[in-house]
Amino acid sequence: MNTDLIIHGQAIQGEAPVFSVINPANEAVLAKVAGASMAQVNQAIDSAAEAFKLWKNTTDDSVNELFLKIAADIRAAKDEIAKLITLEQGKTLPMAQFEVEAGAGWIEYLTSLEIPVETIADPSGKTIKVYNRPLGVVASVTPWNWPFMIAVWHIFPALKTKNCVVNKPSEYTPLSTIKLVEIINRHVPQGVCNIVLGKGNIGQALTEHPAVNKVAFTGSTRTGQSILSHSVTSLKSVVLELGGNDAGIVLEDADIDAAAEKIFGSAFLNAGQTCAALKRLYVHESIYDVLTAKLAAIADAQVVGDGMDAQVSFGPVQNKMQYEKVKALIADAAAQGGQIMTASKRLPESGYYIAPTIIANVQEGIAVVDEEQFGPVLPVLKFSTVDEVLQRSNATEFGLGGSVWSKNLERAEQIAGRMETGTVWINSHSDLSPAAAFGGWKMSGLGYSFGLDGLLLFTHKQAVHITP
Ligand code: NDP
Repeated sequence: MNTDLIIHGQAIQGEAPVFSVINPANEAVLAKVAGASMAQVNQAIDSAAEAFKLWKNTTDDSVNELFLKIAADIRAAKDEIAKLITLEQGKTLPMAQFEVEAGAGWIEYLTSLEIPVETIADPSGKTIKVYNRPLGVVASVTPWNWPFMIAVWHIFPALKTKNCVVNKPSEYTPLSTIKLVEIINRHVPQGVCNIVLGKGNIGQALTEHPAVNKVAFTGSTRTGQSILSHSVTSLKSVVLELGGNDAGIVLEDADIDAAAEKIFGSAFLNAGQTCAALKRLYVHESIYDVLTAKLAAIADAQVVGDGMDAQVSFGPVQNKMQYEKVKALIADAAAQGGQIMTASKRLPESGYYIAPTIIANVQEGIAVVDEEQFGPVLPVLKFSTVDEVLQRSNATEFGLGGSVWSKNLERAEQIAGRMETGTVWINSHSDLSPAAAFGGWKMSGLGYSFGLDGLLLFTHKQAVHITP
């Protein structure tokens, strides 16, 4: 298991204090990792800046060829990477395999995108060509919930647009990202993609460095705000994918059985630790009891345990901080009259296990509804009218995603247009596409990922005016 930094294509031992990576399934130390010193962070940025001088001239075809080779190597190492993800993150092995497979597919999809050049025939007679040029060095700070996938989402659009990268993964889940960067370095020139590891001060040192031209960050709103504030001195471009508190609105004509399965799948995706998971469920009063009972039955049927165990369908929460936060939210909701609809389960004694929990008879004003729980608990709220539910579901600082559940697609689409979120799903939730822009409104983010819109945020425009 590699725990080194990768700088200028070389595996290098960190020079800063060692930190432990914990397996959330049993709290055992999985790996000891030496963090990067400030000198090593600077070295990684210098290496990326140097590599950029050549990489920016690589042809699109060459980049696409490299991407296909990298995706093939990822697929060949799928079992190894998936095992690392399960051990460090906690999700079940099939879910980790899905993460690796989806990552490879995402990279392949990017090869189909062309970076456009717009040609404008100016009335004056001159031609203007607007190019999308690379920015330089991209700093990427990636989280612990989908560590491999989100690293792919940051690194490959940056490389595709001919930037060079320094990634800093979460200290909780660095192992699968190290493996990813190792594979990338088999194919790209030295310095094009680097990884630094650490805890406590590396993220800030990296993202505020004056030689970094763009920061891609996925994580909490608070840290996103901090990154944005210190981007000001060197006017860096910043893309932020932050928290959400996605509402799902289930209308009276929804297909209840199909909706129950899909809603459970979204709300508890990766034990609820997904930025665009369904986090507040609003159900029409006429079907509230039946849908709530169905969700509770699906939750009760889950086998909670170590994700490496083939019998297990539901893994632990990734870290102790999150475990304690979610436990406190459930206790608070119960103390305030929320009805826990799910049976209590015998859970393993060590490990950060919380059984999927459905809470009924709750209202806005309690933390599990108003805040992002980012864990395996779903509050279910009752509504009477569409106007009322839109007013309630939009009354949040978050604006990442939302969903409408109905057989009447026309009506659902009208309601979707009134939701204040960057993405709205109809009869599904949280299934993302590499082809469609994804980004948060309000405090959920800044900028977009995915699709051509997301890709071009890793470039700046250069207008070339050509007078004959
Ligand atoms: P944070 O959002 O605080 O992110 C931690 C990462 O950001 C670390 O790699 C850290 O590096 C870096 N970092 C911290 N401060 C700065 C800074 N000022 N500038 C640049 N980088 C910085 O996540 P946590 O793990 O602490 O989780 C907190 C909450 O975030 C969770 O409870 C959850 O609700 C939410 N979350 C949301 C995710 C999403 O997908 N939207 C994903 C994960 C968490 P270093 O240690 O070197 O400082």
